[in-house]
Amino acid sequence: MAILRFNAVQEAGRRHSKTPELPSNKVSDYYGSTCYDLKQMQSTLAPDVFKDVKNCIAKGKKINPEVANAVAAAVKSWALDNGMTHYTHWFQPLTGSTAEKHDSFFDSISGIEKFKGSALVQQEPDASSFPSGGIRQTFEARGYTAWDPSSPMFKWGTTLCIPTIFVSYTGEALDVKAPLLKALEAVDKAATKVCKYFDRNITSVTASLGCEQEYFAIDKALYNARPDLVMSGRTVFGHPPARGQQLDDHYFGSIQSRVFAFMQDFEFECHKLGIPVTTRHNEVAPSQFEVAPLFEEVNVATDHNMMMMDVMGRVAERHDLAILFHEKPFAKINGSGKHNNWSLITSTGVNLFQPKSSARENLMFLTFFANTIAAVHKYSDILRASIASAGNDYRLGANEAPPAIISVFIGSQLSAVLDELENNGNIAIEKGDNMYMKLGIDKIPEIILDNTDRNRTSPFAFTGNKFEFRAVGSFQNAGIPMTVLNTIVAKQLNDFREEVDALIAGGTEKRLAIINVLRKCIKESKNVRFEGDGYSDEWVKEAKKRGLSNIKDTPEALDAFLTKESKEVFGCYNVLSERELEARNEILWENYIMKVQIESRVMGDLALNHILPTVVKYQMKLIDAAKGLKEIGLDNESTLNVIRKITEHSEGVKTGVLAMIDERRRINKIEDSRKKSIEYCKNIKHKYFEKIRYHVDKLELFVGDEDWPLVKYREMLFLH
Ligand code: ADP
Ligand code: MG
Repeated sequence: MAILRFNAVQEAGRRHSKTPELPSNKVSDYYGSTCYDLKQMQSTLAPDVFKDVKNCIAKGKKINPEVANAVAAAVKSWALDNGMTHYTHWFQPLTGSTAEKHDSFFDSISGIEKFKGSALVQQEPDASSFPSGGIRQTFEARGYTAWDPSSPMFKWGTTLCIPTIFVSYTGEALDVKAPLLKALEAVDKAATKVCKYFDRNITSVTASLGCEQEYFAIDKALYNARPDLVMSGRTVFGHPPARGQQLDDHYFGSIQSRVFAFMQDFEFECHKLGIPVTTRHNEVAPSQFEVAPLFEEVNVATDHNMMMMDVMGRVAERHDLAILFHEKPFAKINGSGKHNNWSLITSTGVNLFQPKSSARENLMFLTFFANTIAAVHKYSDILRASIASAGNDYRLGANEAPPAIISVFIGSQLSAVLDELENNGNIAIEKGDNMYMKLGIDKIPEIILDNTDRNRTSPFAFTGNKFEFRAVGSFQNAGIPMTVLNTIVAKQLNDFREEVDALIAGGTEKRLAIINVLRKCIKESKNVRFEGDGYSDEWVKEAKKRGLSNIKDTPEALDAFLTKESKEVFGCYNVLSERELEARNEILWENYIMKVQIESRVMGDLALNHILPTVVKYQMKLIDAAKGLKEIGLDNESTLNVIRKITEHSEGVKTGVLAMIDERRRINKIEDSRKKSIEYCKNIKHKYFEKIRYHVDKLELFVGDEDWPLVKYREMLFLH
């Protein structure tokens, strides 16, 4: 008997929902109470110190040691008053999660709690276990973390967490945040300069991000009974349930009571941390859900997304649930993404992607709109690389997620506007003419109809007042695609401005110069625009004709980071140097190898130690039955047929696994990480995973339900 599975199913079936007791019905009573944000700073710092810090944050300037000391003293009192005993520099290494090392406030020599400005500003974590892609080995073994004052400190258990960047001694970025901050600075500068064409009062531009986070929630006991989920985050075997998502009855459906209680609980924790979680709903697949906070400045939103994922995991424990952030935990069931809603907002409070009522303002909108499309077109391979991961490879192009082809959806109304601008732009403008009318810019509606009826199959869609990068994987750190997007848009805006300035210098009227360069952008980037069904085979063919890339696997997708073009675009704003790009790719390839290797091992273990022994036992039962039937003179042909089928599939599993193990041995000898990752992709994943799985999933259908050792899909997905 498959004891583990039955115990788990029984345990899961006995659970009740645990509605959390909230201290108040009003979120405002506790919102932000465990984070040290600007409001807290203002109430705990001397006015001149607060002004200085605020100014440094706004301008991205360094905080001087005296001010740092004052902040450290204030935050220490706040921390001690709120039950914190330790502090840590909290950072985002390239492994995909977050890291911390705790130090006590208590100083045993003086016998009191201490926290100096220097400890706030900089630390040297023992970083030898974090990947550096070879950067650290060659120079200094240690890296250091440096305080990022633009993201609020927060309370985690009894620890004060200080958001930081993580760099090597020689200054190379070893994390996600350091280049992200540089990219945001680049886009701010580039966009502000372009804004000056339209409004001299704009002094800065902030990039905003709102992440819609998808995830699965399943019972903890069932999760624990699936070694593949525990080890690799996804199920390597499992026959889809009879009732899948055909009915689509889960989407926006009532949220099962246990999961609902969990949501209330984690939203409470998020609100205390100042994470503006607002919407929650069911997703398409059974047991799949989505949460979205209100958008914030990109750096803070990225930190908040990482924090939120962490909070969700911890709170889920209290509800005996496991949260799956993997992009494709279940085969043939919808995967999970992290839709990155992105826009640019000026210091005067104008969203640059919001169509306006006046034609004049719409030229500004069109400028940013068309340049973003042009950036996505020109650097689509780098954008594709920014969302490459072993997990996301299972999702992209899987008929429910955007394909690996990067395209932009803008809706029929704006397509018409761009087409008109492209085709009619050459008309002569005479004195007294309404130029905007002649160009059709006066016709941009304030409210874009496609906003409501938008294309869900596009990887990069304009949704009325923002772009939504939907191809990002659910587990990925949003900071990586955001670094790339903001860098390429900065580059495009700078190139655009240079061209416009050149025309103006040659005597062209400013607005005409802008329009002329825009027309060129629109024409050149036309191929990236696609309004049809991104899931269809026709699109794959059409995209090929248009010359758009369709790079399906991570190892090759990552090559885009190392092209001349990539080095140039990341280099010109010091976002990432050539060496950093190379080091990063090294880490990403290694990470890919590790992920596929783990899946392959789990597959082998499960097949050899769980599946095949069960099948042999079951075979013996059938053989006895067949013999019995024959003895009493009855027809045993159908039983014999089942025995033959099972034998055939067992053989398939066994030969597949053994050959895969041999292949792994060969590949593991390869030194070069790029080559090795390609081998793992082609000769392990593509060659064996599907094949072995096919036989195991068939066996699941033949072997009696009582004997099957692995928790089944229907049990994981429909039990709450
Ligand atoms: P959907 O219909 O895709 O769920 P929502 O309107 O609920 O869209 O928004 C999804 C996310 O987009 C939310 O996190 C929201 O805060 C964010 N968002 C809305 N406006 C902007 C903006 N201007 N910039 C960035 N994100 C935004
Ligand atoms: Mg959305």
